[in-house]
Amino acid sequence: LAKARGRNRIEFYTADLSFLATERMTLENDLRRAAERGELHLHYQPKQCLHSGRLVGAEALLRWQHPLHGDVPPERFIALAEENGSIIELGDWVLQEACRQMSEWQAQYPAFGPLAVNLAGPQLRQPRLVERISELLAAAGLEPASLQLEITETFVMSQKEEALPILQALKELGLQLAIDDFGTGYSSLSYLKRLPIDTLKIDQSFVAGLPDDPNDAAITRAIIALGHSMQLTVIAEGVETKSQERFLAFEGCQQIQGYVLSRPLSAEDFAARFLVSRQTLGSNAQAPL
Ligand code: C2E
Ligand code: MG
Ligand code: MG
Ligand code: MG
Repeated sequence: LAKARGRNRIEFYTADLSFLATERMTLENDLRRAAERGELHLHYQPKQCLHSGRLVGAEALLRWQHPLHGDVPPERFIALAEENGSIIELGDWVLQEACRQMSEWQAQYPAFGPLAVNLAGPQLRQPRLVERISELLAAAGLEPASLQLEITETFVMSQKEEALPILQALKELGLQLAIDDFGTGYSSLSYLKRLPIDTLKIDQSFVAGLPDDPNDAAITRAIIALGHSMQLTVIAEGVETKSQERFLAFEGCQQIQGYVLSRPLSAEDFAARFLVSRQTLGSNAQAPL
């Protein structure tokens, strides 16, 4: 009986694996066609200056609405796209759409910006990246400074030799650069000092434990101090509560982003709430623009 059960288990297991493999292949194929089928869109999450309360830009976050599976989370399809190379096309769609939306918003609200776009490692390795971005900016009539690129610390630190000249070229073009998920990627400080970056983005895993977890509090303070000493802007992501916000303000973090302010919103909702009505962002806020 035990043997039979054991065998059944193995059969179950292999059936499971092939199911996953099939599902993965289907998802990969669907993803390649998602853009042309109009299943992709961007959501926008505001960033706020803790000192003035003002809106200081937004981050574009990719959304995929699958006709059968509904919203597929980026954690699932971005990694897949990075592995199979389709991130290049996907990322190009994101850049193009973000530039289009930004030029529409800037025409009406010239003070709004920058708009941040997440860039995956394989995108940074494309030989024509800098050219392509300047093409997209020119086509949209945007100043390079109105675009910020968010690049993960993990990528930058794992590809040191490769990343530095690419970041330098992007900076020379006039873009703003932020290191995303900072604190998770084993930064070498001497290398960090050489990077032409503007912003450190404290990873949300540390923010989650604020203000009570002593380790998260210590790490957050250390990142803020590091950012200040290098003359970088420090922003905290994933800020959900007022007590987290107060801790960050007290410690001198300049900007926040998170549910405490707003979830990522459709372009329409973002504009209605943060651009058109200029609704105040918080208790200490002035008009956002
Ligand atoms: P990320 O760039 O670090 O973005 C932050 C993630 O945290 C977003 O998840 C955002 O919706 C979520 N978030 C924002 N505020 C809060 C909060 O207060 N609490 C919590 N618990 N979460 C919050 P999302 O949109 O699911 O994206 C996940 C990741 O997928 C992003 O992490 C980014 O690495 C990647 N991603 C999203 N869009 C793109 C894209 O266009 N290109 C690339 N390469 N990656 C993208
Ligand atoms: Mg990001
Ligand atoms: Mg992040
Ligand atoms: Mg993150």
